[in-house]
Amino acid sequence: TDGSVVNSTEIVSRMRTLIETIMTNNYAYYVLDNPTLEDSEYDQVRRTLLELEEEYPDLVQPDSPINQVGDVPLSAFTQVTHDIPMLSLGNVFEYDDLRDFMRRVNDRLSVSQQNPEYEMELKLDGLAVSLKYEHGKFVQAVTRGDGQTGEDITQNAKTIRNLPLWLADAADIELLEVRGEVLMPKAGFERLNRLAEESEGKTFANPRNAAAGSLRQLDSSVAASRPLAFYVYSVNQGLPENIETQSDALAWLKTLGFSVSAVEVIKNPREAQAYYESVIEGRSDLPFEIDGMVIKVNSLALQQQLGFLSREPRWATAYKFPAETVMTRLHAIEWQV
Ligand code: NAD
Repeated sequence: TDGSVVNSTEIVSRMRTLIETIMTNNYAYYVLDNPTLEDSEYDQVRRTLLELEEEYPDLVQPDSPINQVGDVPLSAFTQVTHDIPMLSLGNVFEYDDLRDFMRRVNDRLSVSQQNPEYEMELKLDGLAVSLKYEHGKFVQAVTRGDGQTGEDITQNAKTIRNLPLWLADAADIELLEVRGEVLMPKAGFERLNRLAEESEGKTFANPRNAAAGSLRQLDSSVAASRPLAFYVYSVNQGLPENIETQSDALAWLKTLGFSVSAVEVIKNPREAQAYYESVIEGRSDLPFEIDGMVIKVNSLALQQQLGFLSREPRWATAYKFPAETVMTRLHAIEWQV
């Protein structure tokens, strides 16, 4: 018995250390927009905790951040509760995981529904924002925050050049809520950091943090001077009833005047893999950073039927790209030896 007591104390202590690391880094990343860990290192810490929790379900700590989305936002902005929670996405890292994801989807569908069509999008590396339009007029922008409550960044969002403030073709829709990603294109990010260096100001770690930091400026003239862009990826309220798939919803948003990134409909894991690989090849030519692809069940009715887990939808997942920086670091370490 002694052995198992020591063992569980040790497991709990390892869990506590991992939780501490995740919480500290969540705060640095989501609240301060100033991470100190590489994303791949952070993801590794999360995976280690998840594996421990799966192996020792009885020892799961009540404050475990595993099912948490983002972090509690800064109080400087007005807090807004989302009508519908803004969740995160699960991850897959390789082809076998992708097939497992599709298998899990099949397991929850009836025989006649199996092997549904999927739709793939770029996983834009910015921050998630919800926009509301009343009778076609832009009225509010809110960050994801902790998933339940975000920050009202309406004034700053108005300065984003490609964010439509008026949707003529949505004037008869009482309330339209769309969600998408605010990002900073690579060229603008480099220019911003160059200018900051010249004036000995603060430089940003990457375009994602630059976008988040810019959007959460209290002075909207600062946000206005930053090269931000908005790409829409979903309709969450007010979608016309004749639209039945994610790919058609995005095509409709494009006709309304939104920027939409690449969209590809695929039928099986092999097609998904081929498209994923072709995007990796063209990745460096894109004007903005992406950290993977998002793969979604295309039918909106099936999405609704599949529903959500606590932190993520069951009908979509992120297919992450291999981390380039980790490769570089590993090589650097090899060369030092
Ligand atoms: P996520 O970024 O992995 O996935 C969810 C998000 O994807 C959504 O909220 C949405 O903003 C975005 N997205 C982009 N394109 C999309 C599309 N086409 N359709 C739907 N969603 C799309 O999850 P997360 O919870 O935002 O954050 C996890 C990420 O943050 C990881 O990459 C992690 O490494 C990083 N992180 C890093 C640190 C650190 O210290 N370095 C700390 C915390 C989090």
